[in-house]
Amino acid sequence: MITNIEKVCRLTIGKLRRQFLLFFKRDEVETQIATRSGKCHQCANCCRLVFRCPFLTSKNLCLVYHSKARPGACAYFPIDSRDIKDVEISCGLKCGYFFAGEGQERP
Ligand code: SF4
Ligand code: SF4
Repeated sequence: MITNIEKVCRLTIGKLRRQFLLFFKRDEVETQIATRSGKCHQCANCCRLVFRCPFLTSKNLCLVYHSKARPGACAYFPIDSRDIKDVEISCGLKCGYFFAGEGQERP
């Protein structure tokens, strides 16, 4: 059973890790993304990791989705299975994406 402090620490590290990967290892991220399957079902659960994004409306829409203001980390989420696990840890629900060998039964 993960405590709230452990959850916040893990999700914060995940945010920092994604920023690092996108800034310093963009090519590896692109390669990893190419192995991703599934699709986004627009649950916006990844918009509430650690805190609710201020751009998320009450109808779970992104105010900056089609603008340059949308962070790269959003456009590339999930980069790998750790990000998918972060969604599950955050809210207990599954992301619509998955990576090879880990649960093709996902919606
Ligand atoms: S958690 Fe996954 S399915 Fe939900 S909005 Fe984010 S990327 Fe899409
Ligand atoms: S900027 Fe948009 S896509 Fe990114 S976390 Fe905020 S609401 Fe979600």
